[in-house]
Amino acid sequence: MGKSLIAIAALALAACATAPDPQAPKVKITPLGSHDGEFCPLDRALVFEDPDGTRILYDAGRTVRGPNDPRLGRIDALLLSHVHGDHLGDLIQPSANAGACPKPDFSVNVTPNSNMVNISLAKQAPMIVGGEMGSFLSAKVSSLGGDPGKLVRLVRYGAQTMVGKVMVAGVPAVHSNGLPAAFLLSEQAKLYAGGLTAYVGEPGGFVLRFSNGLTVYLSGDTGITAEQDLVVRGYYKANLVVMNIGGFPFTTGPDEAAYVVNSLVRPAAVIASHANEPATVGGKLSPTSRTAAFQKAAKMPVHVPLSGKTMEFDGSGRCTSGC
Ligand SMILES: [Zn+2]
Repeated sequence: MGKSLIAIAALALAACATAPDPQAPKVKITPLGSHDGEFCPLDRALVFEDPDGTRILYDAGRTVRGPNDPRLGRIDALLLSHVHGDHLGDLIQPSANAGACPKPDFSVNVTPNSNMVNISLAKQAPMIVGGEMGSFLSAKVSSLGGDPGKLVRLVRYGAQTMVGKVMVAGVPAVHSNGLPAAFLLSEQAKLYAGGLTAYVGEPGGFVLRFSNGLTVYLSGDTGITAEQDLVVRGYYKANLVVMNIGGFPFTTGPDEAAYVVNSLVRPAAVIASHANEPATVGGKLSPTSRTAAFQKAAKMPVHVPLSGKTMEFDGSGRCTSGC
């Protein structure tokens, strides 16, 4: 064989080694937003499904319509980043697509229990939380007849646990974590008259490592933190990021979020999250949206989480379908 033929054979082999294998196992990620096929202001919830079948719900918030929402299916664990109403879930929709994407109808009040606790009880699946949220949720679960030993799992920063074949680790989020009064009983809520809140420890984010190698950083609500570089990239080597881009006055906006993904975590791809805007119309991204600004500023593909549309990712963080 001539030298050039050897070179061609070597190139072909190298190409085979890096080309995506269509048979490789995929992780399915399905957004459960307020309006089918859109990315709406209060959309936070995602369901992750490992190739082993393990299904994990992240921050049910207001857009999962309680435990009987048919989109949930089996749920093996719930991840809660922090206790604000749009994550723990204070209100939900009366029916699928209630209201309009810019202004969803969240007229069903699920306090003081919360959407997360109701789903955990119905599915008999643990809520994985950090900070001091475990003791608050344990008391809540007990008061509703559930077993906190089964339904509440504490995973603070630095610790990890397994759900099926999925590793779940707690990572820091720099935000706040005061429990809204609506989740308390009325005599407990008197505290709030002076502008104080009941604090339930640090808010958090998560890193999930799936059985196909996909390693996902869920930012939760946060600003820019050094741990996004040192821990999320340095230690866990996340290759997919679910990034909060909501901006003023709560969290990273498109510019700060782009810095996080471009310079700190540096994943293969990103899913935008928590946009606090009607980012799409008819499933198409509005060019003037902050989601579009983030997509433009990020150096890697930014996928828009359209409610009900399942995206599939291989172990390297590459979206192989549904994006
Ligand atoms: Zn939030």
